[in-house]
Amino acid sequence: MRTLNDFNFKDKKALIRVDFNVPLDKDGNVTDATRIQAAMPSIIKVLEDGGSCVLMSHLGRPKNKEAEFSLGQIVDKTEEVLGVQVKFAPDCIGAETKDMVDALSPGEVLLLENLRYYPEEKTGDVNFAKTLSEYGDVYVNDAFGTAHRAHASTAVIAQFFPDNKCFGSLLASEIENVNKVLQTGASPVTAIIGGAKVSSKITVMENILDKIDHLIIGGGMAFTFVKAQGGSIGNSLVEDDKLDLALEILKKAEAKNVEVHLPIDTLATQEFSNDGETQVVPIDNIPEGWMGLDAGLASIDKFNEVILNSKTILWNGPVGVFELPTFANGTKSVGVAIGASTANGAFSLVGGGDSVAAVKQFDLADAVSYVSTGGGAMLEMLEGKTLPGIQAILD
Ligand code: AMP
Repeated sequence: MRTLNDFNFKDKKALIRVDFNVPLDKDGNVTDATRIQAAMPSIIKVLEDGGSCVLMSHLGRPKNKEAEFSLGQIVDKTEEVLGVQVKFAPDCIGAETKDMVDALSPGEVLLLENLRYYPEEKTGDVNFAKTLSEYGDVYVNDAFGTAHRAHASTAVIAQFFPDNKCFGSLLASEIENVNKVLQTGASPVTAIIGGAKVSSKITVMENILDKIDHLIIGGGMAFTFVKAQGGSIGNSLVEDDKLDLALEILKKAEAKNVEVHLPIDTLATQEFSNDGETQVVPIDNIPEGWMGLDAGLASIDKFNEVILNSKTILWNGPVGVFELPTFANGTKSVGVAIGASTANGAFSLVGGGDSVAAVKQFDLADAVSYVSTGGGAMLEMLEGKTLPGIQAILD
Protein backbone atom coordinates (compact mmCIF):
# COMPACT_ATOMS: atom_id res chain seq x y z
CA MET A 1 0.00 0.00 0.00
CA ARG A 2 1.71 3.21 -1.17
CA THR A 3 1.25 6.14 1.16
CA LEU A 4 2.63 9.62 1.06
CA ASN A 5 5.46 8.54 3.33
CA ASP A 6 6.87 6.71 0.28
CA PHE A 7 7.42 10.07 -1.43
CA ASN A 8 9.60 13.08 -0.81
CA PHE A 9 7.68 16.11 -2.03
CA LYS A 10 10.60 18.55 -2.14
CA ASP A 11 9.93 20.97 -5.03
CA LYS A 12 6.98 18.83 -6.06
CA LYS A 13 3.30 19.70 -6.38
CA ALA A 14 0.99 17.26 -4.61
CA LEU A 15 -2.47 17.17 -6.17
CA ILE A 16 -4.55 16.07 -3.19
CA ARG A 17 -8.19 14.99 -3.44
CA VAL A 18 -9.56 15.93 -0.03
CA ASP A 19 -13.06 15.66 1.36
CA PHE A 20 -13.88 19.24 2.34
CA ASN A 21 -17.60 18.60 2.02
CA VAL A 22 -18.17 20.31 5.37
CA PRO A 23 -21.46 21.53 6.87
CA LEU A 24 -22.10 25.28 6.55
CA ASP A 25 -24.63 27.51 8.29
CA LYS A 26 -26.87 29.87 6.30
CA ASP A 27 -24.17 32.55 6.33
CA GLY A 28 -21.61 30.17 4.86
CA ASN A 29 -19.66 29.56 8.09
CA VAL A 30 -18.18 26.10 8.64
CA THR A 31 -20.05 24.51 11.57
CA ASP A 32 -17.88 21.38 11.86
CA ALA A 33 -14.26 21.39 10.66
CA THR A 34 -13.59 17.70 11.38
CA ARG A 35 -13.00 16.90 7.70
CA ILE A 36 -10.54 19.76 7.26
CA GLN A 37 -8.67 18.66 10.40
CA ALA A 38 -8.63 15.08 9.08
CA ALA A 39 -6.78 16.17 5.91
CA MET A 40 -4.18 18.12 7.86
CA PRO A 41 -1.52 15.39 8.35
CA SER A 42 -1.23 14.82 4.59
CA ILE A 43 -1.01 18.53 3.78
CA ILE A 44 1.55 19.21 6.51
CA LYS A 45 3.73 16.27 5.38
CA VAL A 46 3.93 17.71 1.84
CA LEU A 47 4.68 21.22 3.08
CA GLU A 48 7.32 20.01 5.54
CA ASP A 49 9.04 18.10 2.73
CA GLY A 50 9.33 21.40 0.85
CA GLY A 51 6.51 20.79 -1.61
CA SER A 52 3.26 22.58 -2.42
CA CYS A 53 -0.36 21.40 -2.31
CA VAL A 54 -3.15 21.75 -4.83
CA LEU A 55 -6.31 20.75 -2.98
CA MET A 56 -9.43 19.65 -4.82
CA SER A 57 -12.81 18.74 -3.32
CA HIS A 58 -16.53 18.86 -3.85
CA LEU A 59 -19.04 20.67 -1.64
CA GLY A 60 -22.66 19.58 -1.57
CA ARG A 61 -24.67 18.80 -4.66
CA PRO A 62 -24.71 21.87 -6.91
CA LYS A 63 -26.81 21.80 -10.07
CA ASN A 64 -25.09 24.83 -11.57
CA LYS A 65 -22.38 27.09 -10.23
CA GLU A 66 -24.48 28.28 -7.25
CA ALA A 67 -22.58 30.53 -4.81
CA GLU A 68 -23.95 28.59 -1.83
CA PHE A 69 -21.76 25.65 -2.89
CA SER A 70 -18.58 27.66 -3.38
CA LEU A 71 -15.51 26.35 -1.60
CA GLY A 72 -14.41 29.98 -1.34
CA GLN A 73 -16.52 30.01 1.84
CA ILE A 74 -14.19 27.61 3.63
CA VAL A 75 -10.86 29.29 2.83
CA ASP A 76 -10.69 31.19 6.14
CA LYS A 77 -11.50 28.09 8.19
CA THR A 78 -8.95 26.04 6.25
CA GLU A 79 -6.28 28.66 6.94
CA GLU A 80 -7.21 28.66 10.62
CA VAL A 81 -6.96 24.86 10.85
CA LEU A 82 -3.75 24.50 8.81
CA GLY A 83 -2.04 27.60 10.16
CA VAL A 84 -0.85 28.57 6.67
CA GLN A 85 -2.19 30.92 4.01
CA VAL A 86 -4.53 29.24 1.51
CA LYS A 87 -4.89 30.63 -2.02
CA PHE A 88 -8.16 30.06 -3.83
CA ALA A 89 -8.68 29.36 -7.53
CA PRO A 90 -12.19 30.58 -8.48
CA ASP A 91 -12.59 27.71 -10.95
CA CYS A 92 -11.28 24.15 -10.72
CA ILE A 93 -10.09 24.14 -14.37
CA GLY A 94 -9.21 26.77 -16.99
CA ALA A 95 -6.33 29.08 -17.90
CA GLU A 96 -6.44 31.18 -14.72
CA THR A 97 -6.33 28.05 -12.56
CA LYS A 98 -3.41 26.65 -14.56
CA ASP A 99 -1.52 29.95 -14.09
CA MET A 100 -2.16 29.87 -10.35
CA VAL A 101 -0.94 26.27 -10.15
CA ASP A 102 2.20 27.11 -12.14
CA ALA A 103 2.93 30.09 -9.89
CA LEU A 104 2.70 28.00 -6.71
CA SER A 105 5.94 27.96 -4.67
CA PRO A 106 7.13 25.34 -2.16
CA GLY A 107 5.26 25.71 1.13
CA GLU A 108 2.12 27.11 -0.53
CA VAL A 109 -1.41 25.74 -0.64
CA LEU A 110 -3.96 26.33 -3.41
CA LEU A 111 -7.60 25.26 -3.03
CA LEU A 112 -9.59 24.78 -6.24
CA GLU A 113 -13.27 25.72 -6.60
CA ASN A 114 -15.94 23.01 -6.23
CA LEU A 115 -15.28 20.10 -8.61
CA ARG A 116 -19.00 19.39 -8.87
CA TYR A 117 -19.61 22.70 -10.62
CA TYR A 118 -18.77 20.46 -13.58
CA PRO A 119 -21.03 17.44 -14.17
CA GLU A 120 -17.95 15.74 -15.63
CA GLU A 121 -16.72 15.17 -12.07
CA LYS A 122 -19.55 12.81 -11.17
CA THR A 123 -19.76 11.15 -14.58
CA GLY A 124 -16.06 10.31 -14.29
CA ASP A 125 -15.15 12.11 -17.53
CA VAL A 126 -11.65 11.12 -18.67
CA ASN A 127 -10.84 14.46 -20.31
CA PHE A 128 -11.88 16.38 -17.20
CA ALA A 129 -9.72 14.04 -15.10
CA LYS A 130 -6.79 14.56 -17.50
CA THR A 131 -7.09 18.36 -17.21
CA LEU A 132 -7.04 18.11 -13.40
CA SER A 133 -4.09 15.72 -13.55
CA GLU A 134 -1.95 18.47 -15.08
CA TYR A 135 -2.01 20.35 -11.76
CA GLY A 136 0.28 18.02 -9.84
CA ASP A 137 3.39 15.82 -9.97
CA VAL A 138 1.98 13.30 -7.50
CA TYR A 139 -1.70 12.39 -7.04
CA VAL A 140 -2.74 11.81 -3.44
CA ASN A 141 -6.19 10.48 -2.61
CA ASP A 142 -7.13 11.43 0.93
CA ALA A 143 -10.89 11.71 0.42
CA PHE A 144 -12.23 8.70 2.30
CA GLY A 145 -15.76 10.15 2.32
CA THR A 146 -15.96 9.79 -1.48
CA ALA A 147 -13.69 6.76 -1.96
CA HIS A 148 -16.76 4.67 -2.82
CA ARG A 149 -17.47 6.87 -5.84
CA ALA A 150 -15.85 6.34 -9.26
CA HIS A 151 -15.66 10.07 -9.98
CA ALA A 152 -13.11 11.93 -12.12
CA SER A 153 -11.06 13.24 -9.17
CA THR A 154 -11.42 10.19 -6.90
CA ALA A 155 -10.65 7.31 -9.26
CA VAL A 156 -10.43 8.11 -13.00
CA ILE A 157 -7.59 10.60 -12.52
CA ALA A 158 -5.25 7.97 -11.03
CA GLN A 159 -4.48 6.47 -14.48
CA PHE A 160 -2.52 9.65 -15.34
CA PHE A 161 -0.11 8.97 -12.46
CA PRO A 162 0.98 5.38 -13.08
CA ASP A 163 3.97 5.65 -10.74
CA ASN A 164 3.19 8.81 -8.80
CA LYS A 165 0.00 8.10 -6.89
CA CYS A 166 -0.59 7.21 -3.27
CA PHE A 167 -2.99 7.16 -0.35
CA GLY A 168 -3.11 10.17 1.94
CA SER A 169 -2.70 9.68 5.69
CA LEU A 170 -6.43 9.68 6.39
CA LEU A 171 -7.36 7.18 3.70
CA ALA A 172 -4.45 4.94 4.71
CA SER A 173 -5.53 4.94 8.35
CA GLU A 174 -9.16 4.18 7.48
CA ILE A 175 -7.96 1.13 5.53
CA GLU A 176 -5.56 0.04 8.28
CA ASN A 177 -8.21 0.35 10.98
CA VAL A 178 -10.88 -1.58 9.14
CA ASN A 179 -8.30 -4.30 8.50
CA LYS A 180 -7.57 -4.40 12.23
CA VAL A 181 -11.16 -5.58 12.66
CA LEU A 182 -11.85 -7.66 9.58
CA GLN A 183 -8.43 -9.22 8.97
CA THR A 184 -6.25 -9.22 12.05
CA GLY A 185 -8.73 -8.68 14.90
CA ALA A 186 -7.94 -10.67 18.05
CA SER A 187 -10.75 -12.95 19.32
CA PRO A 188 -13.34 -12.60 20.65
CA VAL A 189 -14.44 -10.25 17.88
CA THR A 190 -17.81 -8.57 18.46
CA ALA A 191 -19.90 -6.57 16.01
CA ILE A 192 -22.70 -4.38 17.29
CA ILE A 193 -25.05 -3.68 14.41
CA GLY A 194 -27.94 -1.32 15.04
CA GLY A 195 -29.84 1.44 13.29
CA ALA A 196 -33.21 1.66 11.67
CA LYS A 197 -33.37 -0.96 8.98
CA VAL A 198 -32.20 -4.52 8.40
CA SER A 199 -32.20 -3.88 4.66
CA SER A 200 -29.36 -1.36 4.86
CA LYS A 201 -27.15 -3.67 6.96
CA ILE A 202 -27.74 -7.12 5.45
CA THR A 203 -24.65 -7.13 3.27
CA VAL A 204 -22.52 -5.93 6.17
CA MET A 205 -23.83 -8.71 8.43
CA GLU A 206 -23.30 -11.39 5.81
CA ASN A 207 -19.76 -10.19 5.07
CA ILE A 208 -18.63 -10.02 8.68
CA LEU A 209 -20.10 -13.34 9.86
CA ASP A 210 -16.87 -15.09 8.84
CA LYS A 211 -14.80 -12.71 10.92
CA ILE A 212 -16.69 -12.37 14.20
CA ASP A 213 -17.54 -14.43 17.27
CA HIS A 214 -20.45 -12.32 18.61
CA LEU A 215 -23.13 -10.33 16.83
CA ILE A 216 -25.18 -7.89 18.87
CA ILE A 217 -28.26 -6.77 16.94
CA GLY A 218 -29.96 -3.65 18.30
CA GLY A 219 -32.05 -0.65 17.34
CA GLY A 220 -35.08 -0.64 15.09
CA MET A 221 -33.77 -3.51 12.98
CA ALA A 222 -33.88 -5.93 15.94
CA PHE A 223 -37.69 -6.04 15.74
CA THR A 224 -37.64 -7.66 12.31
CA PHE A 225 -35.60 -10.51 13.87
CA VAL A 226 -37.90 -10.73 16.89
CA LYS A 227 -41.04 -10.83 14.73
CA ALA A 228 -39.45 -13.41 12.42
CA GLN A 229 -39.01 -15.63 15.48
CA GLY A 230 -42.68 -15.28 16.39
CA GLY A 231 -42.53 -12.40 18.89
CA SER A 232 -45.20 -9.71 19.28
CA ILE A 233 -43.62 -6.34 18.56
CA GLY A 234 -46.64 -4.00 18.73
CA ASN A 235 -46.08 -0.88 16.63
CA SER A 236 -42.30 -1.17 16.56
CA LEU A 237 -40.36 -0.58 13.37
CA VAL A 238 -40.39 -3.66 11.16
CA GLU A 239 -39.62 -4.69 7.58
CA ASP A 240 -42.19 -7.37 6.89
CA ASP A 241 -40.59 -8.30 3.59
CA LYS A 242 -37.32 -9.10 5.37
CA LEU A 243 -38.59 -11.67 7.90
CA ASP A 244 -37.27 -14.65 5.94
CA LEU A 245 -33.97 -12.92 5.39
CA ALA A 246 -33.65 -12.29 9.13
CA LEU A 247 -34.14 -16.00 9.81
CA GLU A 248 -31.59 -16.82 7.14
CA ILE A 249 -29.01 -14.57 8.78
CA LEU A 250 -29.64 -16.25 12.14
CA LYS A 251 -29.18 -19.64 10.50
CA LYS A 252 -25.95 -18.59 8.80
CA ALA A 253 -24.65 -17.17 12.06
CA GLU A 254 -25.34 -20.46 13.82
CA ALA A 255 -23.60 -22.42 11.07
CA LYS A 256 -20.56 -20.18 11.45
CA ASN A 257 -20.57 -20.46 15.26
CA VAL A 258 -21.37 -16.78 15.71
CA GLU A 259 -23.31 -16.11 18.89
CA VAL A 260 -26.18 -13.69 18.17
CA HIS A 261 -27.40 -11.41 20.95
CA LEU A 262 -30.78 -9.80 20.43
CA PRO A 263 -32.31 -7.40 22.99
CA ILE A 264 -34.28 -9.06 25.81
CA ASP A 265 -36.40 -6.04 26.73
CA THR A 266 -37.20 -2.61 25.36
CA LEU A 267 -38.22 0.82 26.56
CA ALA A 268 -41.54 1.33 24.80
CA THR A 269 -43.85 4.26 24.21
CA GLN A 270 -47.03 4.97 22.28
CA GLU A 271 -45.84 7.98 20.34
CA PHE A 272 -42.54 8.86 18.68
CA SER A 273 -41.67 11.63 21.12
CA ASN A 274 -39.66 12.41 24.23
CA ASP A 275 -42.56 13.15 26.51
CA GLY A 276 -45.00 10.26 26.21
CA GLU A 277 -45.62 7.58 28.83
CA THR A 278 -42.98 4.81 28.76
CA GLN A 279 -42.67 1.26 30.10
CA VAL A 280 -40.09 -1.49 29.88
CA VAL A 281 -41.55 -4.62 28.27
CA PRO A 282 -40.16 -7.95 27.05
CA ILE A 283 -38.86 -7.58 23.51
CA ASP A 284 -41.18 -10.33 22.22
CA ASN A 285 -44.28 -9.21 24.09
CA ILE A 286 -44.84 -5.56 23.25
CA PRO A 287 -48.47 -4.49 23.73
CA GLU A 288 -50.52 -3.36 20.72
CA GLY A 289 -50.10 0.35 20.11
CA TRP A 290 -46.68 0.48 21.80
CA MET A 291 -43.32 0.65 20.09
CA GLY A 292 -39.84 -0.13 21.37
CA LEU A 293 -37.48 2.81 20.97
CA ASP A 294 -34.53 1.81 23.17
CA ALA A 295 -32.83 -1.21 24.71
CA GLY A 296 -34.09 -2.04 28.22
CA LEU A 297 -31.79 -2.49 31.23
CA ALA A 298 -31.64 -6.30 30.94
CA SER A 299 -30.55 -5.96 27.30
CA ILE A 300 -27.97 -3.34 28.23
CA ASP A 301 -26.52 -5.67 30.90
CA LYS A 302 -26.30 -8.49 28.38
CA PHE A 303 -24.69 -6.28 25.72
CA ASN A 304 -22.22 -4.88 28.28
CA GLU A 305 -21.08 -8.33 29.33
CA VAL A 306 -20.33 -9.33 25.74
CA ILE A 307 -18.60 -6.02 24.97
CA LEU A 308 -16.44 -6.11 28.12
CA ASN A 309 -15.25 -9.62 27.24
CA SER A 310 -14.30 -8.72 23.65
CA LYS A 311 -10.84 -8.06 22.28
CA THR A 312 -12.00 -6.52 19.01
CA ILE A 313 -15.18 -4.46 18.60
CA LEU A 314 -16.95 -3.00 15.61
CA TRP A 315 -19.88 -0.65 16.22
CA ASN A 316 -22.18 0.28 13.40
CA GLY A 317 -25.55 1.84 14.20
CA PRO A 318 -27.31 2.96 17.41
CA VAL A 319 -29.35 0.56 19.57
CA GLY A 320 -32.14 3.07 20.12
CA VAL A 321 -33.51 6.43 19.05
CA PHE A 322 -30.59 8.24 20.70
CA GLU A 323 -31.61 11.59 19.17
CA LEU A 324 -34.45 11.65 21.75
CA PRO A 325 -32.91 11.90 25.28
CA THR A 326 -35.57 9.58 26.74
CA PHE A 327 -34.37 6.79 24.43
CA ALA A 328 -30.63 7.50 24.43
CA ASN A 329 -29.58 5.35 27.38
CA GLY A 330 -29.01 2.10 25.47
CA THR A 331 -26.82 3.71 22.83
CA LYS A 332 -24.87 5.70 25.41
CA SER A 333 -24.33 2.54 27.51
CA VAL A 334 -22.99 0.66 24.49
CA GLY A 335 -20.55 3.52 23.85
CA VAL A 336 -19.45 3.61 27.49
CA ALA A 337 -18.94 -0.18 27.55
CA ILE A 338 -16.88 -0.03 24.35
CA GLY A 339 -14.80 2.72 25.98
CA ALA A 340 -14.23 0.56 29.07
CA SER A 341 -13.31 -2.46 26.97
CA THR A 342 -10.90 -0.28 24.95
CA ALA A 343 -9.29 0.93 28.19
CA ASN A 344 -8.79 -2.78 29.00
CA GLY A 345 -6.85 -3.29 25.78
CA ALA A 346 -9.53 -4.08 23.20
CA PHE A 347 -9.40 -2.51 19.75
CA SER A 348 -12.62 -0.68 18.83
CA LEU A 349 -13.78 0.87 15.61
CA VAL A 350 -16.93 2.95 15.24
CA GLY A 351 -18.09 3.60 11.73
CA GLY A 352 -20.48 3.38 8.86
CA GLY A 353 -23.64 4.61 10.55
CA ASP A 354 -25.22 6.94 13.03
CA SER A 355 -23.13 5.47 15.84
CA VAL A 356 -20.45 7.97 14.82
CA ALA A 357 -22.88 10.81 15.60
CA ALA A 358 -23.76 9.05 18.87
CA VAL A 359 -20.12 8.72 19.92
CA LYS A 360 -19.64 12.44 19.30
CA GLN A 361 -22.89 13.36 21.06
CA PHE A 362 -21.87 11.42 24.18
CA ASP A 363 -18.29 12.71 24.06
CA LEU A 364 -16.83 9.22 23.68
CA ALA A 365 -14.71 9.75 20.56
CA ASP A 366 -11.47 9.67 22.59
CA ALA A 367 -12.55 6.56 24.51
CA VAL A 368 -12.67 4.31 21.43
CA SER A 369 -9.72 3.30 19.26
CA TYR A 370 -10.90 4.73 15.95
CA VAL A 371 -13.87 6.71 14.66
CA SER A 372 -14.29 6.49 10.92
CA THR A 373 -14.80 9.71 8.97
CA GLY A 374 -16.79 8.22 6.10
CA GLY A 375 -20.35 6.93 6.45
CA GLY A 376 -21.14 5.40 3.07
CA ALA A 377 -17.52 4.55 2.31
CA MET A 378 -17.04 2.69 5.61
CA LEU A 379 -20.33 0.84 5.12
CA GLU A 380 -19.14 -0.39 1.71
CA MET A 381 -15.78 -1.46 3.18
CA LEU A 382 -17.62 -3.45 5.83
CA GLU A 383 -19.72 -4.98 3.05
CA GLY A 384 -16.46 -6.32 1.63
CA LYS A 385 -16.62 -4.17 -1.50
CA THR A 386 -13.55 -2.82 -3.22
CA LEU A 387 -13.89 0.95 -3.28
CA PRO A 388 -13.08 2.59 -6.65
CA GLY A 389 -10.99 5.32 -4.98
CA ILE A 390 -8.87 2.68 -3.24
CA GLN A 391 -8.61 0.33 -6.21
CA ALA A 392 -7.43 3.16 -8.49
CA ILE A 393 -4.38 3.69 -6.28
CA LEU A 394 -3.66 -0.04 -6.01
CA ASP A 395 -3.92 -0.66 -9.79
P1 AMP B 1 -28.67 3.97 10.65
O1 AMP B 1 -28.52 5.21 9.82
O2 AMP B 1 -29.09 2.77 9.89
O3 AMP B 1 -27.50 3.74 11.54
O4 AMP B 1 -29.95 4.24 11.58
C1 AMP B 1 -29.92 5.23 12.54
C2 AMP B 1 -31.31 5.57 12.98
O5 AMP B 1 -31.96 4.45 13.55
C3 AMP B 1 -31.30 6.63 14.05
O6 AMP B 1 -31.85 7.81 13.53
C4 AMP B 1 -32.15 6.04 15.16
O7 AMP B 1 -33.06 6.98 15.70
C5 AMP B 1 -32.90 4.94 14.47
N1 AMP B 1 -33.35 3.92 15.42
C6 AMP B 1 -32.61 3.25 16.32
N2 AMP B 1 -33.40 2.45 17.06
C7 AMP B 1 -34.65 2.61 16.65
C8 AMP B 1 -35.92 2.06 17.05
N3 AMP B 1 -36.00 1.17 18.04
N4 AMP B 1 -37.00 2.47 16.39
C9 AMP B 1 -36.92 3.37 15.39
N5 AMP B 1 -35.77 3.91 14.97
C10 AMP B 1 -34.64 3.55 15.60
